[in-house]
Amino acid sequence: MARRLKSYVDHLIMADVLVVGGGLAGTSAAIKARETGARVILVDKGVVARSGVSVFAAGVYSVRFPEDDKAIWMEEMLKAGEYLNDQYWVEAVLDNVYPVTMQIDRWGEEHRVRIFEKDENGFIKRKSRGHIKTHHIVVNSLPMMDSMRKIAQLKGVELVERVMATHLIVRDGRAIGILGLQTMTGELYLLGAKAVILASGGCGLKSVYIGHRNLTGDSQAMAMREGAILRSLEQTGSNTVSREHDIHGLNLFVGSGGKFVNALGEEFMWRYHPVLGSRGRQSDLVVAFSREVSEGRGPVYLDMRGVFSTDRQLMRKILPETFMLWDKAGIDPFAAPIEWMPAFRLKMGGGGGLDVNTRCETNLEALYAAGDTCCAPHHGTYTFGGMNLAFAAVSGVLAGAFASENAGGSRKPAMETEAEQVAAKIAALFVPAEIPKGPTPDEVTAKLQRIIIPYPVTYLRTAQSLKKALSELSNLKPEIDSVKAKDSHELVKAWELKNMSVLAEGFLRSALAREESRGYHYREDFPWTDNRDWLKWIYAKAPSGQEMKIWTEEVPTPFLKPEKDYDVPPGRPQDEFRRPA
Ligand SMILES: Cc1cc2nc3c(=O)[nH]c(=O)nc-3n(C[C@H](O)[C@H](O)[C@H](O)COP(=O)(O)OP(=O)(O)OC[C@H]3O[C@@H](n4cnc5c(N)ncnc54)[C@H](O)[C@@H]3O)c2cc1C
Repeated sequence: MARRLKSYVDHLIMADVLVVGGGLAGTSAAIKARETGARVILVDKGVVARSGVSVFAAGVYSVRFPEDDKAIWMEEMLKAGEYLNDQYWVEAVLDNVYPVTMQIDRWGEEHRVRIFEKDENGFIKRKSRGHIKTHHIVVNSLPMMDSMRKIAQLKGVELVERVMATHLIVRDGRAIGILGLQTMTGELYLLGAKAVILASGGCGLKSVYIGHRNLTGDSQAMAMREGAILRSLEQTGSNTVSREHDIHGLNLFVGSGGKFVNALGEEFMWRYHPVLGSRGRQSDLVVAFSREVSEGRGPVYLDMRGVFSTDRQLMRKILPETFMLWDKAGIDPFAAPIEWMPAFRLKMGGGGGLDVNTRCETNLEALYAAGDTCCAPHHGTYTFGGMNLAFAAVSGVLAGAFASENAGGSRKPAMETEAEQVAAKIAALFVPAEIPKGPTPDEVTAKLQRIIIPYPVTYLRTAQSLKKALSELSNLKPEIDSVKAKDSHELVKAWELKNMSVLAEGFLRSALAREESRGYHYREDFPWTDNRDWLKWIYAKAPSGQEMKIWTEEVPTPFLKPEKDYDVPPGRPQDEFRRPA
């Protein structure tokens, strides 16, 4: 039977633990699993430590130091996450982030790489962006990821690069491997394992904002097809960006004195967040920007004229890609305000994804998830910058530890019995290549973006706008199913489109279900946060061939409960809020 399997694919590799995705979460998971003695394969659609967004992260990494009061961090995170956080996960991140981060720092020092910014005495510097009583440290992401790749290889993690995981192989409810497509040659890979960790990042719908266009929700969609449960898909992610240039660095810009002004020159963010103003959460920013524009006070600008010269130098050091672009374009960002706008990301950093417990287990046996592939359980809605990297590192290490524990023992990967399943999945994979005539994946992706990304769907939602988008998405399905892939590159794009559309449907259905406003989910028709009826998580499930099922469950609040029944959601002018009758 094994020979039969081999005849279907170009490469058949068996391991103890298989990790999908080589960002901070995936490399952390692979290293941890390898340290237990497991044979570990790390497969990436691009290049490990170079693709995905970890390598672009803009310098902010939140760490609770041992001397910090955990209760203060917990309270700040739960309030910022608007109580949708998984409180057990918040505790797990706060307990583990210091040792996990110090290990990354030691690896850097051992290889003479400065990962975290330090003072002249060698102590890690602490700063505060969007934080009230908590802090972040400053990370150099490129050397961090270089170091993670080097450590993974030194420890014996086997890298399989430029292979897109397209299908999860499951036997009797247990994950046993993946089918993968070499993105340049079209060769087929069958990777079997005793435990599988999905860490392939988020899904940005290929929208504006650097670093994420290879992140298309592949793991979430392939797991969903096999019965995995996703959660919080209405809690989309977002950032803001220069209108003219696809750059990053907001955390540092506003953390160092940059401020947002509207066309009237007003520093309007104080209306929306009286404590943090322009340093408000991204959910405050994008909803507020949309409102300023929809009410005729746009466009919005970032004004960095007041930033001190030492901070200007630090920004140049931490954000080399951003400044290289501005330098080439002859723009001095500190000389005049720059037009700024929301940058929608369906899911990245914050936002929904695979539902995981604090052992990183999904509802499928031996299937784990880490980093942006998960439903951001620590964030709830969105806590503050730097918690994405913290969660990626911590969840990666936990997933690696628990998956290798699960993979322990003599049980062999069970791929041999699954020849028929593998053959069926290979046939499904190549359907877009065999369609004689059809639209290109790029054409249909653009249509998907036009349905989802306009601000009445992403930021100022109503039942009407969401239903309209759902109907448009349903009308687009025949086109999604009929895209033609003329080569392996387009075959990858065809599957990326299918995967994005699965998450897009989950987003629209979940957003329609949540009849309140919280986090990035702003409903014009329900413009308050309703802790009485909506302290709930929204779940989604859609095994292959079945309608998507949406349901809710109460959020457990073992540590802290909301003080008010109703509250002001992000992006709502504080002075206009009226409690519902
Ligand atoms: C520009 C930018 C700046 C940011 N700045 C910050 C910051 O300052 N602080 C902070 O905390 N967070 C920041 N974030 C968010 C943070 O970077 C992410 O939350 C975090 O890095 C996610 O890590 P990850 O390992 O889960 O995913 P990623 O780093 O995205 O890694 C995912 C990997 O999976 C691979 N992959 C994808 N699909 C497949 C597939 N089908 N098969 C195989 N492999 C696949 C990708 O190629 C990639 O290597 C920023 C994000 C962006 C985009």
